Amino acid sequence: MVHCHILFVTFPAQGHINPSLQFAKRLIQMGVEVTFVTSLSAHRRMTKTTGPPKGFNFATFSDGYDDGIKRSDFDPKKYMSEIRNRGSQTLREIINASGNEGRPITCLVYSLLLPWAAVVAREFHISAALLWIQSATVLDIYYYYFNGCFAINVENCEDPSWSIELPGLPLVKSHDLPSFILPANSDIFNTLQSFKEHVETLDEETNPTVLVNSFDSLEPEALKVIDKYNLIGIGPLIPSAFLDGKDPSDTSFGGDLFDKSNAYTEWLDSKPKSSVVYISFGSRLSLPKRQMEEIARGLLESCRPFLWVVRAKQNGEEEREEDKLSCMEELEQQGMVVPWCSQLEVLSHPSLGSFVTHCGWNSTLESLITGVPVVAFPHWSDQTTNAKMIEDMWKTGVRVKPNGEGTVKGDELKQCIEMVMGGGERGEEMRRNARRWKDLAREAVNEGGSSNKTLKAFVQEIREDGQ
Ligand code: UDP
Repeated sequence: MVHCHILFVTFPAQGHINPSLQFAKRLIQMGVEVTFVTSLSAHRRMTKTTGPPKGFNFATFSDGYDDGIKRSDFDPKKYMSEIRNRGSQTLREIINASGNEGRPITCLVYSLLLPWAAVVAREFHISAALLWIQSATVLDIYYYYFNGCFAINVENCEDPSWSIELPGLPLVKSHDLPSFILPANSDIFNTLQSFKEHVETLDEETNPTVLVNSFDSLEPEALKVIDKYNLIGIGPLIPSAFLDGKDPSDTSFGGDLFDKSNAYTEWLDSKPKSSVVYISFGSRLSLPKRQMEEIARGLLESCRPFLWVVRAKQNGEEEREEDKLSCMEELEQQGMVVPWCSQLEVLSHPSLGSFVTHCGWNSTLESLITGVPVVAFPHWSDQTTNAKMIEDMWKTGVRVKPNGEGTVKGDELKQCIEMVMGGGERGEEMRRNARRWKDLAREAVNEGGSSNKTLKAFVQEIREDGQ
């Protein structure tokens, strides 16, 4: 068999590392050699918590914050430019060294926010593929936006009747669009600029390959509608034990950046079937104290057991999420608050009844593959578009409505939880739909399924390129 060596570079954030590691594991199972590159600080944290998965070659670059990020002296512009400069240099060194060692790089796979990696691949005449770790729908929206198919201004955002119909996509209102393209966006990493560069880099190539962490039946139109790109659904990228069960030892992504507590397992075991509300806002989102207090009120008034992930202070952070809660004792009488957990383990637990989520794309996919109905509580980035799809397309959940000041009140949260878990017809329908997506996701990755076939075709193609 032709030797095939993929150089894989990923942004050092949990939501990027998880699908990237999972994709790399699949490639390794298919006999591909993988060299996986991320920042030194992320690699250190992964090694400390889970210990990175076996079979990988790891390489790292400094992002200028090797010992962790202190918010007070964090400069996002400097950070992005360090990643670009040092990351590009590291990729060049690996490409040269691998060539000299007789195991040349056949293809460079890069994930979101690293458009410069495609430029390095071009310098060496190596093929490149973007691993798009958000939905195909969001990629299409960025494509239309940067190709001038629509614009949005402050008046559009304030007009509740404003909506836009883009080819292959559902009708979207301003609050369904990825927040970074809205006039008043809060985008400290200048993510929009990275997305623009992604689209520009792809537009310079003929039929560029974009590997999307999605699957055909989930986004049938969105995966096909851009003729100029070769969008292929290769997801959901989820550890095997929670998906196809072919490798029962594959029980985690393998790259936790946070210390985990396992104390919740026994607690979950003690709860009745489908009774627990699980709440998590992912790895980055930090909610204002006002909002945290409203969530606490909603949970307490729902009178249901809950498991809430409230992240502990990270290296260098000044404020703990936990410090924003004044009623911790009361909360712990009804539920459990943990700093981090194995989300997939929790969602797969029989006692789970609903998931209050910020709708990060990984969390969205994880709700679908575990068949758990959702209270969609989006905040920014692609989360708003994912919430739209959860509520209106897949109909597996309901979206909270913030008040005029942008806060979701406790009563609103309580009502949404009731709708998803209660006895009404709408709740029944959401739970039925959630179970259906669980089956469809498995179909996609099983032998002969759409993602299984496209992944094999991708590997075949890079093997042929390497000959
Ligand atoms: N996650 C986890 N434990 C937690 C909270 C989150 O393992 O306590 C994982 C979750 O399973 C998902 C990732 O962290 O794979 C978060 O990614 P997502 O895209 O949902 O959100 P982001 O963190 O990028 O906002």
